[in-house]
Amino acid sequence: MARELYTARLEKKDCISESAQCYHFEFVLDELERFNFAPGQFVSAVAEDENGKPQTRAYSLASAANGKRFDLCVHRVHGGSFPYHLADLPDLPIGGTIRIHGPHRHFVLHEPITDSILIATGTGIAPMRGFLQGLFPTTGEDLSQGKQIWLVFGTRYESELYYREEFEALAAARPNFHYLPTLSRAPESWAGLRGYVQEHVGRIVEERAQRLGLPFPAPAPDPTLLASELKFDIYAYICGLNNMVSGVRELLTGFGWHRKQIVFERYD
Ligand SMILES: Cc1cc2nc3c(=O)[nH]c(=O)nc-3n(C[C@H](O)[C@H](O)[C@H](O)COP(=O)(O)OP(=O)(O)OC[C@H]3O[C@@H](n4cnc5c(N)ncnc54)[C@H](O)[C@@H]3O)c2cc1C
Repeated sequence: MARELYTARLEKKDCISESAQCYHFEFVLDELERFNFAPGQFVSAVAEDENGKPQTRAYSLASAANGKRFDLCVHRVHGGSFPYHLADLPDLPIGGTIRIHGPHRHFVLHEPITDSILIATGTGIAPMRGFLQGLFPTTGEDLSQGKQIWLVFGTRYESELYYREEFEALAAARPNFHYLPTLSRAPESWAGLRGYVQEHVGRIVEERAQRLGLPFPAPAPDPTLLASELKFDIYAYICGLNNMVSGVRELLTGFGWHRKQIVFERYD
């Protein structure tokens, strides 16, 4: 079945890291009353290649639903094979348009909201920004319900901490949100966390178990329960390239976590 294609008009484009060639985009879908999606979902950009064959690339929505608007956070991959790169859309006021379909898939938060560890590297931050906008809207009700929400964001350098000011401001305003940026190639002057996301995720899980008096590693769930009957009081949401995603999944499984507690999106 042919998917419905929409034309999205560029309204804002910012290079948010020159060194990593990462861009923040804001688009508007003029033809829709409202673009409804759940934080964490993605859209597919469509373009024809030189042989007229349609090519698609998935991009996570980097915002929560907001009228006809949506944001993307896209890294320029050198030697990429998509017919054009979003980063090459002309700057405003000329702007430009892209064709998309979606929203798609199920990288979404479990309801009811539980304690959650959001783990991202690189542009894997995009759906996490959407989750956080959904949980902590700037106007209206706080939907986090007082649950503890950690964002562990790994990059190489400080210049690649996308949306840093936003997350720092959120952490200062919401005591149940914890922003943990970690640099794998930190200079000596960096006073924050160092190393890969795995190390910090491990610490969060262990300290939480101690604080709540829970066994660590966690015991296996009751084998007589169906998967649909299992209830968890914490989930992990992981997004980025496969290497990191697999590493974190392995780590959490080693702590006795059930596979249903580990929700992930891989970009490659
Ligand atoms: C569900 C889903 C959501 C995605 N969301 C985003 C997003 O929000 N932002 C984004 O930049 N990309 C995202 N991607 C990746 C995106 O779809 C493309 O694969 C990427 O833009 C590269 O396309 P290309 O044509 O330039 O290169 P290709 O020729 O398709 O890929 C070249 C190589 O680039 C690597 N690669 C793919 N994505 C990235 C990345 N983000 N950072 C570093 N290396 C990468 C892969 O290993 C691949 O082998 C997502 C992918 C999926 C499956």
